[in-house]
Amino acid sequence: MAAEVRPRLTVLSGPSGVGKSTVVAHMRKVHPEVWLSVSATTRKPRPGERNGVHYFFVTDEEFDKLVANGELLEWAEFAGNRYGTPRAAVVERLDRGEPVLLEIDLQGARLVRESMPEAQLVFLAPPSWEELVRRLTGRGTESPEVIERRLAAARIELAAEAEFDTTLVNTSVEDVARELLALMAVV
Ligand code: 5GP
Repeated sequence: MAAEVRPRLTVLSGPSGVGKSTVVAHMRKVHPEVWLSVSATTRKPRPGERNGVHYFFVTDEEFDKLVANGELLEWAEFAGNRYGTPRAAVVERLDRGEPVLLEIDLQGARLVRESMPEAQLVFLAPPSWEELVRRLTGRGTESPEVIERRLAAARIELAAEAEFDTTLVNTSVEDVARELLALMAVV
């Protein structure tokens, strides 16, 4: 009988505003030993974000070089900035048989599926369309036109669920984090 092959690379993705990073932050608080890939980005750090912890903050030129040298497993442009997964650290851990988690946007998830078909793709969905609308409009700072554009984008992003292996509904951060750990075979 063939040995069971566990998917060791897990990709968490989903529409923007659905709460991916909140879930991951909670999961790491409970299980700090779970390794999460640190992405490179051309975005400027937000207050409290640290280089090498939340992201590797790089210049446009540095990002160009990472792409040219094939150092990124995948990369995508999102809201005017570029984001990419450094390949070496991921491959090193997978080679050691350790679980790896990527928290990336939908374009990146599709690219990983192409280059690593054995990866497990997890879609984080909002509890309802109304809830996503509430989250996206919640800040109250955007104009009606901008909100309209974001909602149109979110409608398209939600349709991507069909491309994923598993869907987790973000009803509670604790529950989703637990389910994700189980999928990664950590608990
Ligand atoms: P933020 O600027 O809010 O930190 O991230 C914006 C979006 O970029 C989020 O959807 C996040 O999941 C995504 N993202 C972060 N790192 C990567 C990456 O390495 N590759 C891709 N494709 N998306 C990423």
